[in-house]
Amino acid sequence: MKRDQRVQAFIAFSRFTGMEVSAQFLRQTREHFPQAGISRIHNLAEGIYKPANDKYAFCIWSRSAAGKDQEIYPDILKPHPQGGWTMLYSAKKGNLGYAVNQSLFACMEDKVPVLTIVTSIPSGTSGGGRYKILGPAVIEHFDSSSRTFQLRGATDFVASQIGKEELSEDTLLLMIRNRLILPFQAREARTEYETVQKAREKAFRSIILDEYKCLCAVCQSKFYLRQQKSEPLIEAEAAHIIPVDHRGPDDPRNGLSLCKRHHWAFDNGLFTITDARSIKISPALLHAERKRFDLEEYDGEPIISPINEICKPDDQALHWHQQHKYRKY
Ligand SMILES: [Zn+2]
Repeated sequence: MKRDQRVQAFIAFSRFTGMEVSAQFLRQTREHFPQAGISRIHNLAEGIYKPANDKYAFCIWSRSAAGKDQEIYPDILKPHPQGGWTMLYSAKKGNLGYAVNQSLFACMEDKVPVLTIVTSIPSGTSGGGRYKILGPAVIEHFDSSSRTFQLRGATDFVASQIGKEELSEDTLLLMIRNRLILPFQAREARTEYETVQKAREKAFRSIILDEYKCLCAVCQSKFYLRQQKSEPLIEAEAAHIIPVDHRGPDDPRNGLSLCKRHHWAFDNGLFTITDARSIKISPALLHAERKRFDLEEYDGEPIISPINEICKPDDQALHWHQQHKYRKY
């Protein structure tokens, strides 16, 4: 597999970071997700998957790292509070010269990232096994006494390793999706990204609009016009629940897709979203002079959900909005 093809596949898979997929998705990827441009992610035959004739491993699978499946390789996955994760991943038992072991050494030496997946529900369970995609990682070190590779994933370091010098929109998409495997952080330091703020906003918007299919989460209205030579014309906007000027993160769990009117009303506290994910309008609305301003008819209605459950608004973000933005009178 060419390096470009690998990078493209990783970027395409970034939308699945932190999500669970089926064995069929891993084995017959082209049928389920042709955009990735590869036939499969992993064949699930053994831990390390190296495509035939490839020098490098493409994907490694840990059955034990998530603590869900007991087997002979005791891998250790450690999420880091500052972001990212590391994993101690066991080499295949026996000869280190085995082709699959060598394919990981090659990745380590040439700094070629590997995709990483873990078992979240073992196969043999009714409904079949489920596998969580942790995203790409680089192999930093091999410890010969414990025979483990040390992997580092889900950081901007990885993003920089997958072949791009500056943070392109695709890389930012990958970074934002990668956040989903970590606990939600209600505040973030923005300084490191300030220079690419525009690209970052675009990436955040693209994920949110994707997740909500360009619908307003409140009124479910949609406007989408495909255009020949430019981006489609879309009314829906990606709202931050905790606003950017309050250091709200560009994390899908801090986002909502809203039409222009309802984005404005949300930012101004004319309604909020309850813990049960339903709309609660502000009494202030009733004091306002209004004409044909639809909002109160949605009071008590549920908001629509994102495609992937993992992207739904986080409680911490909603609590912030309820306390600091919502007009209580
Ligand atoms: Zn709306």
